[in-house]
Amino acid sequence: MSYKNFPMVPRVIYGRGSFNQLGDIISPKRLNIYAPFIFLIDDVFKGNPWLTLRIPLAYEDRVIYVSSKEEPKTSQVDSLVEDIILKSKQGTSGIIGIGGGTILDLAKAVSILLTNEGEAKDYQGWDLVKNPAIYHVGVPTISGTGAEVSRTAVLTGPEKKLGINSDYTPFDQVVLDPELTKDVPTNQWFYTGMDCYIHCVESLTGTYLNAFSQTYGDTALQLCKEIFLEDHVSSSEAQDKLMMASWHGGMSIAYSQVGVAHAMSYGLSYLLGTKHGIGNCIVFDHLEEFYPEGVALFKQMKKKHQIVLPTGICENLSDSEIDIMINIALSLEPLWENALGKNWKKIIKREKLKDLYKKM
Ligand code: NAD
Ligand code: ZN
Repeated sequence: MSYKNFPMVPRVIYGRGSFNQLGDIISPKRLNIYAPFIFLIDDVFKGNPWLTLRIPLAYEDRVIYVSSKEEPKTSQVDSLVEDIILKSKQGTSGIIGIGGGTILDLAKAVSILLTNEGEAKDYQGWDLVKNPAIYHVGVPTISGTGAEVSRTAVLTGPEKKLGINSDYTPFDQVVLDPELTKDVPTNQWFYTGMDCYIHCVESLTGTYLNAFSQTYGDTALQLCKEIFLEDHVSSSEAQDKLMMASWHGGMSIAYSQVGVAHAMSYGLSYLLGTKHGIGNCIVFDHLEEFYPEGVALFKQMKKKHQIVLPTGICENLSDSEIDIMINIALSLEPLWENALGKNWKKIIKREKLKDLYKKM
């Protein structure tokens, strides 16, 4: 048995208002006054002085606003990298991603492609990255994906949706300031929060479970129950707790795996562009037979927060389109093995997935 040796985020600052310390944190990392820091920021913050006036810009530093309407693409990483190289002739001091999973993954991928030749799609997979990335910092503004702590940067490429999984992917620094999440709209709060909840359920019920994953998963699951089911949690307390749940949920799957909901949600996302959080919710809602307790609790949470999920999104798809989704889902073998064990191929048939997709 050979165990994986995981890298972790080496530095993290936590606290409401800790974002104000970003300037002090990054300034020692500046290579020279001509090598800028590049701030990749979700464009939802454009024109929002509460956040933008606190971005610690100096010298040639640049802000690039990025839309998170669509999940990050390999081509988007390539064009950002080209633009950054063209405009920073004396090198780049670092990449600072400020936003949700979309922006965090973009920041990780861009920092890798700045020191590795070729295109982003060449690095989708496991341990394909050769050189350390440039200094990169993650500042989550919505909680749930665990992208702030994970070893992957999930990208949609020309042929597949797959992460750049490498020891160089994790951030060098993360700023956990729960206050930054205060204006997240309720629906999005729920979808991305449920990503964390589903990470916990899939990790804790999986065959890959071990004490490392369980301790993180148990903690995150308990926090999710408090946040999404109890009444006495104040909104700031809920923001604090969800940020830590996301972190722990991410740590839990680091040493185990996700499962059926993620495999099927990747299919939806590849074919229909359904975003990760809502896609997971749409799928998970139909997975009673795999996760009976987890789905029952999910339905309670959904009801409590009056969330109405889209229905019939696969209704008018052709058989060949459904086949594409099934192929994507089944290609994620470790997820199925975690969920159902080594004999998963005997348990899960294409017909089963087709029936499930047709219900969504
Ligand atoms: P997101 O980054 O796509 O953002 C969702 C929405 O919330 C956007 O409209 C955004 O503008 C808005 N938003 C973010 N912060 C806000 C704030 N403070 N106030 C108001 N609006 C705000 O959502 P997400 O769910 O965090 O990320 C999804 C992405 O994360 C997917 O691309 C998925 O593939 C990826 N992901 C990565 C990992 C990983 O380990 N790397 C894990 C899970 C998911
Ligand atoms: Zn997820």
